[in-house]
Amino acid sequence: MLRKRGNFPTADFVAPDGSRKTITIWCSNDYLGMGQHPKVLQAMHTALEEVGAGAGGTRNISGTTHYHVELERELADLHGKEAALTFTSGYVSNDTTLSTLAKILPNVVLISDALNHNSMIEGIRRSGAEKKIFRHNDVAHLEEILQSIDPSRPKVIAFEGVYSMDGDFGPTEAICDLAEKYGALTYIDEVHAVGMYGPRGSGVAGRDGTMSRIDIVEGTLGKAIGVMGGYITAKAEIVDAIRSYAPGFIFSTSLAPVICAGAIASIRHLKESDAEREGQQAAAAKLKRMLKESGLPVIESPSHIVPVMVGEPTCCKAVSDALLRDYDIYVQPINYPTVPRGTERLRFTPGPLHTDAMMQKLVGALNELWKYHALRRAA
Ligand code: PMP
Repeated sequence: MLRKRGNFPTADFVAPDGSRKTITIWCSNDYLGMGQHPKVLQAMHTALEEVGAGAGGTRNISGTTHYHVELERELADLHGKEAALTFTSGYVSNDTTLSTLAKILPNVVLISDALNHNSMIEGIRRSGAEKKIFRHNDVAHLEEILQSIDPSRPKVIAFEGVYSMDGDFGPTEAICDLAEKYGALTYIDEVHAVGMYGPRGSGVAGRDGTMSRIDIVEGTLGKAIGVMGGYITAKAEIVDAIRSYAPGFIFSTSLAPVICAGAIASIRHLKESDAEREGQQAAAAKLKRMLKESGLPVIESPSHIVPVMVGEPTCCKAVSDALLRDYDIYVQPINYPTVPRGTERLRFTPGPLHTDAMMQKLVGALNELWKYHALRRAA
């Protein structure tokens, strides 16, 4: 159990026997440390004083405050879209938006990257619409699928900006080209990219200059933004349709206003400041280099995510347990079904607040444990 207070990425750790120690967290999705940023904390304190703890209702029945409206304005502006809609999590935003699209677009075909997140898979499944899966990032396969669909049917291509387990990017330009050629809508999950890439932190589509060609951008407020919640942003008519029909929006208590206030402060800060993004990129590059130099099997990833392959679930858990027990380092093992069997791994997310000393300690500990468990090193 973590009892986090300040000094992120270190935290107090309370073991089941009640003993305590300070550990370093290496697997947080608060990628930029914004969950501890003074501007975010101050905004949340102010909102708490102003409007209290909870929203008090669904968005349509007393649960809309000026913080919700302001947050949606910030998000639409971040992505250069007309409107935005917030949900209680990124999971809900994917699930309810994709399942609702089938109601709005009768006879739609939902076309999904094979490595899309579970929240998209569930939304597509629950929609009852016809679905087609293209091999991960394989645009030639995507084109084959598009060619095979009756041109008069509505189509949506759903994919991600950053795939969180391998850390690779979605090919936004090639997918937009195909979408335009075959008359499909594009839906991008930028959950691991918002705040992290592109001008003002608008995501991978922002970085690639394809944002205006993407129809629906989905994101979370729970990773680089540092709080919680999810959203979509798109043309006003699309957002209005989701607002009107999506059960995950209509029938759920809205985000606590304090959360919205924290998110607004975080997004505003990240629109203006590149320091956190640059610090994070530098930390990721440094850790990748150090792991590689010491012969550890780091998976080539162009993004901020640094996966190290173990390839076996028991050892993956044993290494993670030993890191926490003997080295005060916390990284959760990533085993099946989150990743395919045989690709079990440790997934590190270095941030701007991880120091050189923390990195040296981590790489030293991994080397000792790799030796102890006779694990495979890089080729
Ligand atoms: N999409 C992706 C790609 C994710 O990795 C996650 C969560 N890890 C989500 C959506 C759900 O976001 P949230 O945690 O805000 O529910």
